[in-house]
Amino acid sequence: MNIKHFHKAASLDDAYERVNKSRHHAIIAGGAWMKFSSRELEEVIDLSDLGLDAIEETKNEVIIGSMTTLHAIETSEILQALFNGILPEAAAQIVGVGLRNVLTIGGSIIGKYGFSDLLGPLLCMDAQLNFHQAGKMSLEAFLDAKSSINDVLVSVHIPKQNGKGYFKKVRKTALDFAVLNIAITKTTDQFKIALGSRPARAILAMDAMAVLNGYESLDNKQIENAAKIAADATTFGDNHRASKAYRKELAYVYVRRGLFMLNKEAS
Ligand SMILES: Cc1cc2nc3c(=O)[nH]c(=O)nc-3n(C[C@H](O)[C@H](O)[C@H](O)COP(=O)(O)OP(=O)(O)OC[C@H]3O[C@@H](n4cnc5c(N)ncnc54)[C@H](O)[C@@H]3O)c2cc1C
Repeated sequence: MNIKHFHKAASLDDAYERVNKSRHHAIIAGGAWMKFSSRELEEVIDLSDLGLDAIEETKNEVIIGSMTTLHAIETSEILQALFNGILPEAAAQIVGVGLRNVLTIGGSIIGKYGFSDLLGPLLCMDAQLNFHQAGKMSLEAFLDAKSSINDVLVSVHIPKQNGKGYFKKVRKTALDFAVLNIAITKTTDQFKIALGSRPARAILAMDAMAVLNGYESLDNKQIENAAKIAADATTFGDNHRASKAYRKELAYVYVRRGLFMLNKEAS
């Protein structure tokens, strides 16, 4: 990546105006993924003076500033208290701590990366995104949108819910991208299951969720059935890390395992 000008935004309005001035302008967070790009950028707009790196809680939600690093997420007591801490657990498994001090939640979401380990837990926790101009939208709607959004992501909002969570990153070596990642949450009688790094980006396994929702506790047959549906109804692909068939088998095994664990904890 080649950058001609580096601009420290003085306000969110300033950042928004500048990023919309030209398609050769872009927001920069940690710059960790952008640096692999061959783009020629006239200007990058840095948000680091805008105080967007805090994790706060209100009565109803946890608010994560878009510039919050993955290391801050990993060590946040507030986030560890939500759904067995699946978001900190996922963040802690991304490369080494040096890089996790640079990588941000904003950069991880806006990139819509197929390999992302954070998108699954965030989908399962009903995360909402707050953009400077567009306002609030669900993470799910943002990920589904085909067009790119030329806005500044300000914060990520997670509703506070009483529930349990499960996260598993299957990878070949400690620092590698996932072969598959699996996130599951359970509130009283509602389940959310997300499969990511398929190698396409994380999606909710709607068909499997539909057969589980409404039940506070599950029997073995329901768990087997839901795991099979999650594996059969989700699209997987081949890449150099794993085959489609292997990913499908992993999905079956770990959805089943996660549901057993959450069901046991709830009883
Ligand atoms: C070596 C390496 C290994 C990695 N391994 C993994 C892994 O195993 N699992 C995993 O989940 N992730 C992994 N990642 C990805 C990482 O977690 C980050 O998601 C990614 O690097 C984004 O980095 P960044 O926060 O520095 O964003 P940047 O690179 O600065 O930005 C990324 C994109 O987001 C845009 N952007 C950033 N912030 C905003 C904002 N607030 N508003 C609007 N647009 C914004 C930028 O314009 C750019 O398009 C890896 C990254 C690296 C470098």
